[in-house]
Amino acid sequence: MKTNKKVLIVGAGKSGIACAKLLIRNGFEVLISDREKREETSQELPSKISLINEGEAAQKADIFSFAVKSPGIEESNIVISSLNKSGIPVKSELETALSFSKTSKVIMITGTNGKTTTATLCGKIMNGFMKKKGAKAFVCGNIGYPVSLAVMKATSKDALVIEVSSYQLADSYTVKPTVSSILNITPDHIEHHGSMKAYISAKKSIFLSQSKKDFCVLNYEDKILRKASISCPSKILFFSSKSLIKKDGAFLENGKIAIKFGGEKTLLNPPSIPGIHNMENAMASALCSIACGADVKSVQEAFASFKGIEHRIEFVRKINGVSYYNDSKATNVDSTVIALKALGKTKNIWLILGGRDKKAPYNPLFPLVKKYVKKILTVGEAAEIIEKAFMGKAEIINCDNIFNAIDTVNKNAQFGDIALLSPACASYDQFSNFEERGKKFKNYVLSIEKNT
Ligand code: ADP
Repeated sequence: MKTNKKVLIVGAGKSGIACAKLLIRNGFEVLISDREKREETSQELPSKISLINEGEAAQKADIFSFAVKSPGIEESNIVISSLNKSGIPVKSELETALSFSKTSKVIMITGTNGKTTTATLCGKIMNGFMKKKGAKAFVCGNIGYPVSLAVMKATSKDALVIEVSSYQLADSYTVKPTVSSILNITPDHIEHHGSMKAYISAKKSIFLSQSKKDFCVLNYEDKILRKASISCPSKILFFSSKSLIKKDGAFLENGKIAIKFGGEKTLLNPPSIPGIHNMENAMASALCSIACGADVKSVQEAFASFKGIEHRIEFVRKINGVSYYNDSKATNVDSTVIALKALGKTKNIWLILGGRDKKAPYNPLFPLVKKYVKKILTVGEAAEIIEKAFMGKAEIINCDNIFNAIDTVNKNAQFGDIALLSPACASYDQFSNFEERGKKFKNYVLSIEKNT
């Protein structure tokens, strides 16, 4: 490895720019490359950082001591290929940022689903606990706040709670969190990783460099994780929504969350967020925090005030006895299945489905729709495809957009019914992203006069 202090950052996104700033602060000379040399990106960069285009970066590849790759960039990218050919180490922003971290408390959470919910709740517990000690927990990573920025701010007393994606993990070889957690592994992002095996091995790198003193929180009901746990070098804490965990770990007992740590068992009231999946997220966040030193009281306090996260089965309001929920984050069929399982009690749900179709079959929804859905309201580009899929299986009303759908529910639903926006589709046909779709849904619901 070269010993000069020249570093190339590939990808001028939020985390790339944050990482460049961190490296500059630590005396490195930084060049940052992007597909295009955009004017607005140049303006965001401190004067010491030069922005170059990919062609130039590929040509210069062999002058750098190492490179940092933004998570979305493929191995086939011309800059990455040139770096590989020249034998220049390519690292993730996560790994690079952590090499400058002063804190000894690092919690890393990954999984196919539930990362944001678990990391947010874990951050809430850790912040409650750390505040009592005059310190702070920085929730960062995939959640939208670059790890590099958190590392620049965190002192040695503080903690980092990092949401990590498989993309970041695939380029991380030495991350060594105090506590790691994998919530679940189901097929996703296979096109990026090349195979399910590669996806699993990316996730496993969250614990492979840990020591015996560290902890790893895993879902006992996930077969892939149970098998992966054999190669885990740290102390394993399993959580389960179905079985009793005999060793230290977490499980459900008479509607309460049982946490066992150091052989001592405590029963906690779970947070009031719907669904078994959220009980799993709550158990994982509690175990991660306790393994990182938090007390059970801080867990209970955070559970009591946690109301869930925006756009994930988020309760909006009751109008004339009808409850409205915003689950705009449900951009695929699996997430809508989760929402119906979480809210389904009787056949009282008005389900708003549609947006941009993801070309995945809707069949997994059939049994749940039969049991819990009163009417399907179709919206957006996918309306026709959904109507065909559910023909003869449910009552369907074409509403064209979410606002008409809300009006239809408001006019026709009965006291005790549920209106659920859990579209199973992407939002890009009518909105810029799922956040905008969810916000517009909520604003419209909140603007409705009662008894209209
Ligand atoms: P991520 O950050 O991994 O995308 P989120 O916490 O944002 O996860 O949740 C996104 C969606 O994933 C939720 O709306 C829900 O449908 C599903 N989900 C959340 N937690 C779990 C879980 N523990 N197991 C399975 N699915 C989950």
